[in-house]
Amino acid sequence: MRLIECLSEVYNSTMSNISVLQTLHDVFGYSTFRGEQQAIVEHVTTGGDALVLMPTGGGKSLCYQLPALLREGVGIVVSPLIALMQDQVDALKQLGVRAAFLNSSQDADETRDITVQLMRGHLQIVYVAPERLLMSSFLSLLDEIEQGAGIALFAIDEAHCVSQWGHDFRPEYRKLTVLHERFPQVPRIALTATADAPTRAEIIERLQLENARQFVSSFDRPNIKYRVTQKGASQKTSARQQLEAFLESEHANDAGIVYCLSRKKVEETAEWLKSRGWDALPYHAGLDARVRNLNQRRFLREEGVIMVATVAFGMGIDKPNVRFVAHLDLPKSMEGYYQETGRAGRDGLPANAWMTYGLGDVVSMRKMLDSGDAPEERKAVERQKLDALLGFCESTICRHQTLLRYFGEQHPGDCGQCDNCLSPVDTWDATQAAQMALSCVYRTGQRFGVVHLIDVLLGRNTPKIQQFSHQNLSTFGIGKGISQPQWSSVYRQLVAGGYLESDIEAFGGLKLAESAKPFLKGEAEVWLRQDSEVVATRKVSKAERGSRAKEGYEEVADDPLWHALKAKRMELAKEQGVPPYLIFHDSTLLEILNQKPGSLTEMSQISGVGQAKLERYGDAFLEVLEDR
Ligand code: ADP
Ligand code: ZN
Repeated sequence: MRLIECLSEVYNSTMSNISVLQTLHDVFGYSTFRGEQQAIVEHVTTGGDALVLMPTGGGKSLCYQLPALLREGVGIVVSPLIALMQDQVDALKQLGVRAAFLNSSQDADETRDITVQLMRGHLQIVYVAPERLLMSSFLSLLDEIEQGAGIALFAIDEAHCVSQWGHDFRPEYRKLTVLHERFPQVPRIALTATADAPTRAEIIERLQLENARQFVSSFDRPNIKYRVTQKGASQKTSARQQLEAFLESEHANDAGIVYCLSRKKVEETAEWLKSRGWDALPYHAGLDARVRNLNQRRFLREEGVIMVATVAFGMGIDKPNVRFVAHLDLPKSMEGYYQETGRAGRDGLPANAWMTYGLGDVVSMRKMLDSGDAPEERKAVERQKLDALLGFCESTICRHQTLLRYFGEQHPGDCGQCDNCLSPVDTWDATQAAQMALSCVYRTGQRFGVVHLIDVLLGRNTPKIQQFSHQNLSTFGIGKGISQPQWSSVYRQLVAGGYLESDIEAFGGLKLAESAKPFLKGEAEVWLRQDSEVVATRKVSKAERGSRAKEGYEEVADDPLWHALKAKRMELAKEQGVPPYLIFHDSTLLEILNQKPGSLTEMSQISGVGQAKLERYGDAFLEVLEDR
């Protein structure tokens, strides 16, 4: 290469670097990239194809939005989530970007209007539903645009929708190869938060991305604190009370999601929380569509709303400040758990994933699986998935480590934030106890539930014991040295570990699994976790408070200026009919509170304040600061 060419290349790359950072700052208000963003943006901006695997909250949108702004022409974003398009476009408009969407929710006039703007090259980013994109009229329109103002890129969001194994399969996604065939010169970027290897391989194959560069991020969510507590560890506390104690001590004013398994439980829990003074709403597929939309809208647009929901809720919810996700019932798998808890803390601020579970859940989940109509192969897979989840629940090591290991990623552990790291769990030699527990199942004929089994072990004189003459058994009263909650914990762990199975024919009574034999004979050691007593009014430990306060979140809860800033944000949001986080994210508001900028120039240094927002809202927030 001649010197002059070499110099010009260096010059060009420095120039483009400057303009990349400049645009990042001017439009988005950020001064640095996160993780792999910079490499991705540079690769796509210079015309390369990319496959991006990044967890929820990792910052995927910027990876295609910024290159779309930096390249000539309009960026076309394919997205399957109609509900989300509106939000994304509103957010871009707030940043001063000329964006629009095209989907079936619009009438003919609107569609025509946007099409005209597209043809004239007035738009920078357009979101389209896959069915629209594949219409021959739309493809012809794209031909014309490519001849004229040009197409900057194609972004294929939620790329895992090409996979028929996932639950979000969209057949139209498979036809998206037409983009590559028809517009080979336009770069494509496919993005997903689903990381498993088979899905990744399928995306590459189905979208013909063999030559795309892969950008794989860590799937760790360091700002999420995972915690699993046991139901009934204290007999005086119900799961609801445990939930309320958790909310009271850590989320008195926060938005969050409470997941339940059944519609009935969703409604009951929402009702109960409401009666206790919480701003809680139900959401499940059985509710009238109008009510569902209304509740979702309130969750997004108001602050501090708790959504009690089945898993029907969550897909396409990208509210950044969901501060907690609570599970009152077990999720179905680790994948489900990761996805559901992943809806917390998209903004990177501290968030909690809290779950309470007990023996009853383990038994009923196993029963549900066994009694379903699914073919035996499928049941076997589901059983394995549930086992992995139960292993996670019962694990005594760092939750981040256990979770990531399941997805094939190494994590050093000792996150210092999860329950197991904050209060290390003791294990105890339960060999003898397990032997007693299993033998009690055997002696009673392998058909009774745990309540009765524990009564036998504790030597209680109940009518049922009389009825079956169980006071004459050798196991009657041999377990008096161990408390009722601890026996319950032993049984839970034995069921979770697969040593005991629930017998459907015997109405969920427990029977011995093949694997229990060595333990029954005392030939193998059993070590179990020592459950801590759950106290109804559990207060946040000092260490936990410390890590929240470090992020500057909890400290501000009582600060009047914080409330004044939030009130201003809500006022501006209501004026425009958008959710408050589209005006400024909590993290930006927090920085305004801490930095107290005294001028527009100082305000422009705050992360999340780009040119457009500075002009529109700078003065309003400066006034709030001055008034104090
Ligand atoms: P994903 O689509 O991967 O779930 P988003 O694109 O919604 O993630 O981004 C998650 C959050 O991170 C958003 O609040 C976004 O504004 C913020 N974010 C993204 N990139 C940056 C950055 N470079 N600096 C600061 N915040 C960022
Ligand atoms: Zn940990």
